[in-house]
Amino acid sequence: MNTQNSLSQIYLDANATTPVLPKAAAAALATMETMFGNPSSSHISGLQAKQIMDNAREKAQKVLGSGNGSVIFTSGATEGIQTGILSALYSAKSQMETGKTYTILYGATEHKAVPESLKHWNTILEINAQIKAIPVNRDGDLDLEFIANEVPNALMICTMAVNNETGVFQNLSHLEQVIRKHNTNVYWMVDCVQALGKTTLELANTSIDYAPFSGHKLYGPKGIGFVYIRENAPFTPFIAGGGQEGGLRSGTENLPGLAALNIIFDMLLSNNDESFTDVVQLHKFREQLASALKKSFPEVVFNHSFKNSVPTTLNFAIPGFSSKEMMDLFDAANIRVSSGSACSSKVTRSFVLDAMGLPAWQSESAIRMSFGPAMTQIQIDTACERIIQSAKALGRSCLTFDSNQISPKENLNGLVQFKVGGSCTWLYVDQTSKSAIIIDPLAEITERLSTILNCQNLTLTAVIDTHGHADHVSDRGRLADKLTPIQETDPLGWPISCNYKVLNGHRYPMIKVGEKYLVKVATPGHTDDSISLILCSEADTELKIDYVFCGDMILMGSLGRTNFATSSSEHMHHSIQLLHNIIGNESLLCASHDYNNEFVTTISAEMDRNTLLAQVINNDIPVTDFVAQKVGLDKNINDEVGSEIMCGAFIKSCNKKKVTDYNSQTLSDAMSQSSDMTLIDIREPHEYVLGHDQQFGLNVPLTRLVDFISAHQDKSEPLVLVCRSGSRSHIAAQALARLGYKNVGHLKGGYALNN
Ligand code: PLP
Repeated sequence: MNTQNSLSQIYLDANATTPVLPKAAAAALATMETMFGNPSSSHISGLQAKQIMDNAREKAQKVLGSGNGSVIFTSGATEGIQTGILSALYSAKSQMETGKTYTILYGATEHKAVPESLKHWNTILEINAQIKAIPVNRDGDLDLEFIANEVPNALMICTMAVNNETGVFQNLSHLEQVIRKHNTNVYWMVDCVQALGKTTLELANTSIDYAPFSGHKLYGPKGIGFVYIRENAPFTPFIAGGGQEGGLRSGTENLPGLAALNIIFDMLLSNNDESFTDVVQLHKFREQLASALKKSFPEVVFNHSFKNSVPTTLNFAIPGFSSKEMMDLFDAANIRVSSGSACSSKVTRSFVLDAMGLPAWQSESAIRMSFGPAMTQIQIDTACERIIQSAKALGRSCLTFDSNQISPKENLNGLVQFKVGGSCTWLYVDQTSKSAIIIDPLAEITERLSTILNCQNLTLTAVIDTHGHADHVSDRGRLADKLTPIQETDPLGWPISCNYKVLNGHRYPMIKVGEKYLVKVATPGHTDDSISLILCSEADTELKIDYVFCGDMILMGSLGRTNFATSSSEHMHHSIQLLHNIIGNESLLCASHDYNNEFVTTISAEMDRNTLLAQVINNDIPVTDFVAQKVGLDKNINDEVGSEIMCGAFIKSCNKKKVTDYNSQTLSDAMSQSSDMTLIDIREPHEYVLGHDQQFGLNVPLTRLVDFISAHQDKSEPLVLVCRSGSRSHIAAQALARLGYKNVGHLKGGYALNN
């Protein structure tokens, strides 16, 4: 198998955008350098420019089969969508009868440009029709019965030819039959952005009124698009001005874009252009990628059927791995993929997969691989090889486990923090005794924990909840049954038979984890069963406290709520003072929640921003006043943030701390001036194992940051954090600065922008 060299990127995100093909880029460049005339000028330069534009239009009409319809050049599909919607709704408005109610219909899986533009123009034009999403079934097909019922009353219906997240195509002729049977006049727009070059379009043979397209989805540059308008369909210019495009769309035309489109259209119209691969081969490419995924991740689930989707898209989820994790992994392997829609990369789940009724985890973990007709066999082979390498790298980090696969494993030791939304699970590993404890296990990561324990050959000494959780179901039982040596425990998982340890003059129940002690202190308040767990070790004659797992009592920026049936704020007041007497101001508090990415805290860090906590610690507030204040605070709890129940009254998030932003130049200058500067690579180990960037300095993945903090109490040492994009390094640097590290910086833009 011939594959590409390991540094070259394999771009599998064509549905977001494509590179400009060299031939198209050369044509665009020529119009910028030599054929740069204005198509409206009547001199020779202008005439040459106009010819480029006329050629592009003529070819576009052929590619679209637009017959007597017109093709107008735009800045992209979003503008084409505005043009179609404005034209349709403005015309529909003049035909509306008073007293009648109207609807506007759009497919539930439509690109956001469509529903958002519908809402916008419905308001601006004061149409006030009811905008309704047409449901789709599990396969992503539009509900034709819904359309049949609703379309008689509709002013406009918007559907899409091919979906950008799943590649699912609609049967446009079935759709047309249903629409026209029930409403011959309704304006129909079909978003054809993802269909160009992937399916044949004979638009004039249909009753589609408007069809927007975009150049950058098919190897053209960004900033050029076009919209088809059926002959006699109403038209209102979206941009008025100098009268270009026959007055239909003003503004000097994008000549470089048009020159590039000319080349793309030539390729689409030619029967023997070798730059574009035929459909049969594209199907083979998808099959090849799918089988590499199945081989590497046997549990992979595809989120759409390959039968009703174009061959250039695969959308899948891998159980136990979030989209973000998979994207980071593939990015490290130099394969560019996307999660959900790239246009809204902050969104953590896919509304398209939600609309198809897929389980939440599939929507939250969705990864899309997409390519275009210029894809080559060598790129597909390389992609498959890298997918297999990526899976192996996860195995080495013990995130996947195949007992037959003997590969070198990173030995885990110390504290690991897992997060699901704002909730935390803590795993403590003692590598010497091969034992581990888990605190506050979340169901979402049970499989991951089991894999790690198996892979690292660890025995689970105990799995304990810090209280009966109200916001989520604990998975303690399932883990305990699977892994802990049979032992009798109380309902929170604390072993019935245990030893005792004296802390601060009092005897508390204790179990051993290797050479360390895990001590249980009852700290009721948030709930009556709340406990705090103190992990400590013998140091000289004293006990050294490593970590305090305080559940929902002291949260970062807040105190746990005390308005549950078994809560008592009076008890919480007492519990805070008791715990403080045992652990002091500087022990690391590992709470059950981390709503703001702060990882860990200390009582002194909390007292700086939480006056109520400071008053309790300093004994400055009578219990009755604390109770009254707590009632006030708990009233303000936003019961649910997204799907999470908040467990603490929000008091104050931390003010952003100053951390130094470095770029590669300032970082290298700073390092040559300061010999004690430590670089910390904050990526997961599998990322740099795969990566083609070397690992710098120490590796401390985010899940191990608290362990690092515990081991590095010298807060004056200069630290610089680095990751792939600068996002994780910034979060971690902020957390360190908040905990009093005085000299923290990070590489802004990460490796991605500083290579
Ligand atoms: N419609 C679909 C289906 C798309 O995939 C996109 C881009 O992601 C758009 C519309 C918007 O296109 P443009 O970026 O050209 O405005």
